[in-house]
Amino acid sequence: MNYRKILSWIYHHLVTRKQHWRNFKTLKEWQWLPPDMLQAICAQRRRNLLAHAAAHVPYYSKVLRETEVVDGSGKVNLDNFNRLPFLTKDIIRSNPDALTSDDKARRSNVFTNYSGGSTGEPIYLLQDAGYQEWNFPAALLGDEWAGLQFGQAKITLWGGTAEVLDPEETKKRRWRRWLNHEIFINATVVKAEAMQAHLEFINRLKPWHIRAMAESIYDLARYIERHGLEVYSPHSIVTSAGTLFPHIREKVEEIFRAPIFNRYGSQEVGVIGYECEEHQGLHVFSPIHHLEIVRPDGTPAPPGEFGEVMVTLLSNYVMPLIRYQIGDVAAWAEKPCACGRGFPRLQEIKGRINDIFVSRDGTHSHGQYFVNILGYNKWIRRFQIVQESYELVNIYIMLFDKHLDPKRTKREDLAKVEERIKLVLGEDCQVEWHFVDEIPPTPSGKHLHTISKVMEKTRGDTDELS
Ligand SMILES: [Zn+2]
Repeated sequence: MNYRKILSWIYHHLVTRKQHWRNFKTLKEWQWLPPDMLQAICAQRRRNLLAHAAAHVPYYSKVLRETEVVDGSGKVNLDNFNRLPFLTKDIIRSNPDALTSDDKARRSNVFTNYSGGSTGEPIYLLQDAGYQEWNFPAALLGDEWAGLQFGQAKITLWGGTAEVLDPEETKKRRWRRWLNHEIFINATVVKAEAMQAHLEFINRLKPWHIRAMAESIYDLARYIERHGLEVYSPHSIVTSAGTLFPHIREKVEEIFRAPIFNRYGSQEVGVIGYECEEHQGLHVFSPIHHLEIVRPDGTPAPPGEFGEVMVTLLSNYVMPLIRYQIGDVAAWAEKPCACGRGFPRLQEIKGRINDIFVSRDGTHSHGQYFVNILGYNKWIRRFQIVQESYELVNIYIMLFDKHLDPKRTKREDLAKVEERIKLVLGEDCQVEWHFVDEIPPTPSGKHLHTISKVMEKTRGDTDELS
């Protein structure tokens, strides 16, 4: 590693990110605290957020008082916490101002974050410096569990819709990757010949570590297996973004001869959980995320039972998310982890499911690409995109405004989406729009938002190749 890199790294991390590193040190200590001490810290952080929300956020100042979570003098009573209504994406989209803190102008580094969500319901959220100052340490601590070492080369197989639409790499992106010793492979749209190039690249670089979207590395593993090829075995692999089905883990670990560390997170709330070296579920960073798993009637699901995940993000004050219905399903582990860390543990998560779309020329496109090009249209409430065949894509849309006639008033938006679909699936691919009142779940009850009938290989329930 050269001196320029070391100096840039020191300036970027130790000068501009001082608080991030302080929090990292704190979080590192908290992981080993006895349960009662850890719980006391988490409860205090939850009380702080609730007191702030009651004082500064219009929606919550009303709701928190009505439910007696916060009383007239501003005192918080956590015993009433489960009286609070769940925060749905619909509430966020219809009341963004009422959910924004009135001290927004005083908060630093406030930015708007977009999420395609795990259910095909796009939302926009505000996040502040506090969010970043805790998200970075959570990711870093998880990376430490996964054995990442500073200065060791890592390869990232990740989504990059921006790179597909604008292949000119921005300077900032290049700089950040250079600084972090990270080589990026765009796994959003992979041409047939690129799969071989990616493999050769990994074999040449011999990375210590690979970070990848679950579906993308599975796709590469199956390519390697199908062609009887060999791949360099890294120290560890971190998967994220999609659901890590057992058959995906098994195949990737077999082909790469390396352990997978699964990571759970989302654009809305950051890194929620990470697998430790015991590989028995994922630890939740409870001082940052207060997680609840609930039954359909809203009561807590006991360990071992699947339920809906509700997240209270304890680090972001500019737009508090309290009991936010993230759209994933999970179950708590029944016993503490053998590693001894006190962070609670999820046994299993059923998060978003992204299909890989395939074009006639063999290009593989990750479902996230379609989520991104559709979700940016703010008039869409919920969507589902289905690749019926090489020549036909059906798009089902639920509108916010049922009286809107997008074929007349949103012609430019529709044309842009069609153009971007043809860019990856080919010019002869037709796009048909269906404006509907309801998008029904699949027979297994899942709300899938990207479905490819051409290559139904990433979903556990329809995997014909495993
Ligand atoms: Zn553990």
